[in-house]
Amino acid sequence: MEIIRTPAEMTAWANRVLAARQTIGLVPTMGFFHEGHLCLMRKAKEKAERTVVSLFVNPLQFGINEDLGRYPRDFSRDCQRAQAEGMDILFAPEVQAMYLPKSSTKVEVAGLTDGLCGESRPGHFVGVTTVVAKLFNIIKPHYAVFGRKDFQQLAVIERMVADLNWDVEIIGHPIVREADGLAMSSRNTYLSARERQTALCLFQAIAHARKRVQAGLVAANILQREIEELLRQEAVTIEYVSLVDQATLQPQDVLQKSTVLAMAIKVGATRLIDNANLFET
Ligand code: AMP
Repeated sequence: MEIIRTPAEMTAWANRVLAARQTIGLVPTMGFFHEGHLCLMRKAKEKAERTVVSLFVNPLQFGINEDLGRYPRDFSRDCQRAQAEGMDILFAPEVQAMYLPKSSTKVEVAGLTDGLCGESRPGHFVGVTTVVAKLFNIIKPHYAVFGRKDFQQLAVIERMVADLNWDVEIIGHPIVREADGLAMSSRNTYLSARERQTALCLFQAIAHARKRVQAGLVAANILQREIEELLRQEAVTIEYVSLVDQATLQPQDVLQKSTVLAMAIKVGATRLIDNANLFET
């Protein structure tokens, strides 16, 4: 596996691959790899002949009071893991190489970014779409794999790609969970043993919601109240509990096949998100 540090070298590699008529698969990440990231890499390898995993802790998508400064990093372990998955390239640019001093262009998807995480993290999605647009232009992938863990992000990127006529196939990967149900996340490393236990309430909420739906419940407001009550019994702060359509992200009154339960909570100082389509098992 080759480590590339600059956009220019990355694009030179991509151009060589394209000239050889090979396909490129990209997995954009912020590093500190866990099994979730590795599954995305495997998916990219399944789809494309050559694969790139990008590792960039993107300052543009962090709010001023967020965890940019302490975001977990372990570059040498990430290199080992990406190499073990057979990635061709680890693209890990410096911030200064990605955002030149004069840079003044941003990519913004309207509407889909208003609610859910967009409401509690103003500016976050502009940061995400701007960096993903740059990565697409630098790496020229045919396929890009994103996790459903960040399901709003996936919807926003699909919108961006459609709106800007990007010739890249966006692949959504199911959420990868720990054995006890906690969705894997680099941020789980912030949790104390006790908080880690408390965080399981997200998966318990999903299990409860699925059970209620299987029993025939259709009223979203009833389910929302029950979930909020369940979460309130734990030492967490609820940011949102929403039942939304998985494509439009609009709240739904009636639970149906397209309904996703989306939640964001804080456990101590750690912000966690989780979601599930309630009709898929
Ligand atoms: P991150 O490094 O946290 O920005 O995540 C990079 C990519 O991995 C994003 O597309 C995430 O949605 C995805 N991802 C992170 N955690 C998981 C998980 N537990 N299951 C599936 N995908 C994940």
